Amino acid sequence: MKPMNEMNVSFLSCSANEGFARAVVSAFVAQMDPTIDEISDIKTAVSEAVTNCIVHAYRDTLGMIYITAKLYEDGGVQIRIRDKGCGIEDVAKAREPLFTTGGEERAGLGFAVMESFMDDVLVTSRVQKGTTVTLKKKLARRRASHD
Ligand code: ATP
Ligand code: MG
Repeated sequence: MKPMNEMNVSFLSCSANEGFARAVVSAFVAQMDPTIDEISDIKTAVSEAVTNCIVHAYRDTLGMIYITAKLYEDGGVQIRIRDKGCGIEDVAKAREPLFTTGGEERAGLGFAVMESFMDDVLVTSRVQKGTTVTLKKKLARRRASHD
């Protein structure tokens, strides 16, 4: 299915940009007339994915984070968060609740949070190449199509 609208944004992995990422995605999704709960779920999931790029992918360094968001006629929203950082050796293990390489500061719950707030979470990764997280959610009500 072709998206009815699409946006791309990229920014440096400084922690100040976590709020920017949440804001820019929610501003874009707002045209779908989401509920307050839906927009809050999306912001939370995006925050977790972007934080992972900042703290894990580009640990001790800075790099670019790329977000693509697509909106579909049927109320579907797809958000892709991509980095070119260190990558994940074992994605299945990384997705297990409480698994973390972040030490005591981290709970290891980011992927579990993304899964609970979104309908679908896809993770692809290559070591030393980077990671792509795709978040999908179908909104309950949707605006009529527009051009
Ligand atoms: P929390 O999110 O609760 O603060 P966490 O970030 O460790 O803790 P998850 O978000 O579930 O927990 O991520 C699990 C693990 O997957 C991380 O500890 C890290 O090893 C790895 N990981 C996640 N995202 C990335 C990424 N973009 N690049 C490299 N490694 C990642
Ligand atoms: Mg995390």
